[in-house]
Amino acid sequence: MLLNEELRIEWCNDPARYLLNLRSPQDLGNKINNIIRDPGLQTYLQGDPEGGQIEIESPSDPNVIIQVKKVPLGANRSLLIARNISDHKQLQESLKNFVANASHELRSPLTVIWGHLELLEAEDKISDSGKRSLHTAQRQSERMKELIQNLLLLSQVESYRLAPDEGDKVSITELNNSLLDALEKYDDSDRVRLEFPEHLYLLGIKTEIVGICINLLENAIKYSMPGKPIQAKWGENRRGEYVFSVRDQGSGIEPEEILKLTNRYYRGRRSRAEVAGSGLGLAIVQHAANKHGATLRITSEPGKGSCFSVTFPSYRSLRDEQMIDEAIRLSGYN
Ligand code: ADP
Repeated sequence: MLLNEELRIEWCNDPARYLLNLRSPQDLGNKINNIIRDPGLQTYLQGDPEGGQIEIESPSDPNVIIQVKKVPLGANRSLLIARNISDHKQLQESLKNFVANASHELRSPLTVIWGHLELLEAEDKISDSGKRSLHTAQRQSERMKELIQNLLLLSQVESYRLAPDEGDKVSITELNNSLLDALEKYDDSDRVRLEFPEHLYLLGIKTEIVGICINLLENAIKYSMPGKPIQAKWGENRRGEYVFSVRDQGSGIEPEEILKLTNRYYRGRRSRAEVAGSGLGLAIVQHAANKHGATLRITSEPGKGSCFSVTFPSYRSLRDEQMIDEAIRLSGYN
């Protein structure tokens, strides 16, 4: 579809007519915002179109999802390209469901295997080589358990974005206790210094926020030498948004790699050879952050270290007093 500088339709082809429910020639000369009343599209069309695109429901059929992209054409015109991506979306959805179902089904047999390995461990008559095999089997089933947990968590955080008032009031002090418990399996977890002010709360889903923090902390441990300090802290920025950050003095990341880190199954070139992992950790962090309306930032200097931070929006960043005010408001005593 060809639009002039006032976003009036100058021309459109047949598929655009069908996908965007346009009548021709009646709609020619009308503003596109008056014809398609999707708030997301309105904002997109007013903004800077460079590189961006948006997905909306087709006005002719809500089951059809279309991707719309605005491309500047000379100084005063733009081309609006709409593409039917419903099949692609459906495929993505069934792939996601498949991974979630398969992970769920794998959990029960693995629990049985794990139980039998524990029984075997209690036997006295196992030879030394038998014990070694047993420990290898235990290590591998532990890895598999973590992989399945990560796949399940990823399919959970990918599902949708929370409404601004959705979630539980999660105490950051309690959340940090869960983090410290989870880090106990590392021999040198005492190099993690976790700082946080008391009486902060987040509105969100606790398991998913723990998922964000634990993945960042485990990465800092995995990708820095034993003994190197790791600084983790909760703070508040000037906009009243709570920020969780983890700073390590590890191997760091090359600038061209940073954008790829949150792709699922992506593993750094060196990490693949040196450290065990699945490439799911930062995908979980990114999706869980998106689901909470939070933003993940990564800065790094190769050879010196990295800093990963997640900023939660102010409407999710609560204080004790806010909870008291809210309780007073609800009780009607204000
Ligand atoms: P995994 O750790 O299982 O490989 P992640 O998704 O957690 O998967 O991380 C993806 C990649 O990002 C890692 O393979 C590693 O190359 C890089 N990475 C993540 N955290 C750090 C860090 N703190 N320092 C250096 N590289 C990191």
